[in-house]
Amino acid sequence: MTEQQIKRVVIAGGGTAGWMTAAALAKMVMPAGVSVTLVESEAIGTVGVGEATIPPITKFNTQLGIDEHTFVRETQATFKLGIEFADWGGLGESYFHPFGRYGFDLEGVEFHQYWSRLKSLGDAHGLADYSLNTLAAYTGKFLRPEPDHGAVIGQLGYAYHFDAGLYAAFLRRFAEDLGVTRIEGRIEEVEQDSGSGLITALSLDHDRRIEGDLFIDCTGFRGLLIDGAMASAHKDWSHWLPCNRAVAVACEKQGEPLPYTRSTAREAGWQWRIPLQHRIGNGYVYCDQHLSAEQAEETLLGSLDGAPVSSPNHLRFRTGHREEFWAGNCVAIGLSSGFLEPLESTSIHLIHMGIAKLVSLFPRSADAPVERAEYNRLMTDDFTHVRDFLILHYKATKRDDAPFWDYVREMDIPDSLAGKLELLKSQGRFFKYDAELFDVTSWLAVAEGQGWGPQGFNPIASGLSEANLKGSLANMRTSYAKAAQAMPTHQAYIDRFCKAAPISFATEPA
Ligand SMILES: Cc1cc2nc3c(=O)[nH]c(=O)nc-3n(C[C@H](O)[C@H](O)[C@H](O)COP(=O)(O)OP(=O)(O)OC[C@H]3O[C@@H](n4cnc5c(N)ncnc54)[C@H](O)[C@@H]3O)c2cc1C
Repeated sequence: MTEQQIKRVVIAGGGTAGWMTAAALAKMVMPAGVSVTLVESEAIGTVGVGEATIPPITKFNTQLGIDEHTFVRETQATFKLGIEFADWGGLGESYFHPFGRYGFDLEGVEFHQYWSRLKSLGDAHGLADYSLNTLAAYTGKFLRPEPDHGAVIGQLGYAYHFDAGLYAAFLRRFAEDLGVTRIEGRIEEVEQDSGSGLITALSLDHDRRIEGDLFIDCTGFRGLLIDGAMASAHKDWSHWLPCNRAVAVACEKQGEPLPYTRSTAREAGWQWRIPLQHRIGNGYVYCDQHLSAEQAEETLLGSLDGAPVSSPNHLRFRTGHREEFWAGNCVAIGLSSGFLEPLESTSIHLIHMGIAKLVSLFPRSADAPVERAEYNRLMTDDFTHVRDFLILHYKATKRDDAPFWDYVREMDIPDSLAGKLELLKSQGRFFKYDAELFDVTSWLAVAEGQGWGPQGFNPIASGLSEANLKGSLANMRTSYAKAAQAMPTHQAYIDRFCKAAPISFATEPA
């Protein structure tokens, strides 16, 4: 077996991507004798947005050994049970995409097949009546599910809303505690070997130079290494996801924080509302072919819950990803690797996925074609799966009140999505391909919520007698309603468990 030749990892950039990568490598890779150095520039700063997450983030923090309540306190986080979508299917309509599943399967048959059958018999109860996440969200409740809480509470899935700046600072403390070296400075040049093209060093301002064996590009949309030096092409998906700009602003909080994100469809895109403990994050994601920056800002500022506490931050982006996420000895993680609008809060998750795959495929030498090819294949799959789920939100609309909605309603969709939708729409059949992120609950929530739900049910759901079917589903509804009622309020949970004095990190003995 060849000796490990990667001894020095250099991370360029210290936003959410940079510090998540640094923290994970500190925990997982440094013990194998690899040093980690991170370069960032306070003068350049970070993108300054990115506050809503999805449930796998809890696993990322757990793997690092981070105490959840400390994390919630230190990042002004709140708990997120799902996303409310308003005005997406049609103006005046809304639905909830929950992070916990719907109902219980019976006799080995999926719950939603029984629900479809009951619906075909004229029953009007919606999927939300079988979702603890939805009932808890709309009554402002939260409880972290513990093993002894029983099967109903056990279905509760959750993620967080947090202050992105505080999260990066939190992870920085964690990573530095474990030995990551941070260098403040501006990267001015990327040095490459003239023969192999591999990156050898980063030249910084004030005549400084950092050599490395493996380089992680976390420089955000700039993609200094992956785009600039390695010239990895960009695969463009903007014909399916045409939003290309956003304006973000924070406002004062009003009352207790809701345990969910709200996404409201607007004239040429959509607006997010993300409640934190100390403020509310807001933004309008839009397509500049249909709306000017001034109009977007005016709409956003005119629809805040409280007074703004920051200046509007205007951002441009391109939807798609790098053809090669890993090129030569450079791995792009975060915005440098690609971007899909934050409609389902997936960017930080894609950072997590990039890190997890890098750790699994951590190379022995700077040139690692086998690991590189597999990494690129897996990340392309991850981006493609998320892309299809996002397109569903746009395609499955009845809105015809603005040219933007006419375009997305009538556009062609990828074959991968068309096939999936056909199966789902006919009889609620759904299969997860490869390591696909969103499961049947998510697809059902959005499809049904926007009027594209199953038209029929799998015939095997006829196995239960009608009386048994009605009784079983009525019992489920009662159990969910009672469980939601008994839960503490979201604010009470935060006050009770997440408000104690800060706990400093203790570096565990090796
Ligand atoms: C409008 C919008 C809303 C979003 N909302 C969400 C959301 O709700 N949920 C979610 O999961 N994600 C969201 N995202 C994505 C999320 O913000 C990013 O995935 C996340 O912040 C990671 O960014 P980053 O670290 O890759 O880049 P950045 O935050 O831009 O960090 C780049 C780093 O590189 C450094 N750098 C750049 N150039 C140099 C240089 N020359 N020398 C030295 N250092 C340099 C910078 O100083 C900075 O430290 C959103 C993104 C946008 C645009």
